[in-house]
Amino acid sequence: MISIQRKPTRTVRIGRVLIGNGYPIAVQTMTATRTTDIDATLAQIERMQAAGADIIRIAVDSVRDAEALQVIRRHTDAVLAVDLQENYRLAAVVAPYVDKVRYNPGHLYHHEKHKDVREKVAWIASVARDHGCALRIGVNCGSVDPEFQRRYPNDPLTAMLECALFHCDILDSLGFNQYVVSLKDSDPYRVIEVNRRFAEKRPDVPLHLGVTEAGLPPMGIVKTRIAFEALLAEGIGDTIRVSLTLPNDRKHEEVLVGRQIIEDVYQGRFLNAPRTALRGLNIVSCPSCSRVENERFVELAEQVRALMAYAKDYDITIAVMGCRVNGPGETDAADLGLWCGPTHVNLKRGPEKIGTYTYDEILPRLRDELDRLIRQRFGSPEASLADARESADVAP
Ligand code: SF4
Repeated sequence: MISIQRKPTRTVRIGRVLIGNGYPIAVQTMTATRTTDIDATLAQIERMQAAGADIIRIAVDSVRDAEALQVIRRHTDAVLAVDLQENYRLAAVVAPYVDKVRYNPGHLYHHEKHKDVREKVAWIASVARDHGCALRIGVNCGSVDPEFQRRYPNDPLTAMLECALFHCDILDSLGFNQYVVSLKDSDPYRVIEVNRRFAEKRPDVPLHLGVTEAGLPPMGIVKTRIAFEALLAEGIGDTIRVSLTLPNDRKHEEVLVGRQIIEDVYQGRFLNAPRTALRGLNIVSCPSCSRVENERFVELAEQVRALMAYAKDYDITIAVMGCRVNGPGETDAADLGLWCGPTHVNLKRGPEKIGTYTYDEILPRLRDELDRLIRQRFGSPEASLADARESADVAP
């Protein structure tokens, strides 16, 4: 065992789970079944609980999802959180059935644009207060409030940090202190930096740690470990979520991985992956959730990893996202991005859309774009790419 001095945050109650202030680090995860498929969602929740999940998050995007949530609530004693996207007004519908509500300041900006953000936050806080819910201010690298992006155009970490601090100030001014903050990025080193900076400024606010879109195991676990080991060893982090791209019958493994990382850190067992471990082709992919529009998403992410392996030595990022809610925005920073719709996959080069392709067409199209990018950026001739494909056993 090593001695770790946890940051002295305030206590936040999330149902029967207390976090911050030295309480055990809570492990959370998120369902990925369709919320309206009540049986499948309950079965997944059960597997997650059996794996040791303290808090389970569910996506609710519609009144039908909210109706399903009511039934789910009646059939499980799990501590539940919901994730609101742009329609923050759903908070009033879901709050009676959950213990925590997460809002994303970036998405909040886009809904009811004529309203001051303070007014929207005050409304969410009053709903949370009425129903004894905690809140999470969930800031994500791919969906930072545009107002803060404008203020810090070349400094996305400061934009994330200042946005989170601004929302903390709003909640503080309302006398609402049952909130936690998350600052997530797909790059673990950026997660370390932005969370350290936040903890320095607001040591009183509990932090929910996560590396967003960490992707498929094992690299998704390596990225998560890099961030969590550094932060947890410094006493930063009161609850964690490991985000891995996994099929539904393996989603509970996020919890097992999270528990293992916490145990390893406290036992002094560090992976200590060198920075070079993240060099070369970087596939980021979302962990999937009930919003996934085609079940082939996880398989697609696995195929992208396998078929693009010939480019493993090139520093290029490919993002694979499961839906239209976060797909368009969270692929902007990648060199090549894919986001899935019900029947088609959208392909992007940075923020620019290239086209929309069927699930059968997308992989050869992606490979063409990857080859073009490698030739442009690294000057590699077609012959060397063909050799690399052959040695990686990828058909031309
Ligand atoms: S990109 Fe869409 S499907 Fe993937 S985790 Fe985010 S909201 Fe869920």
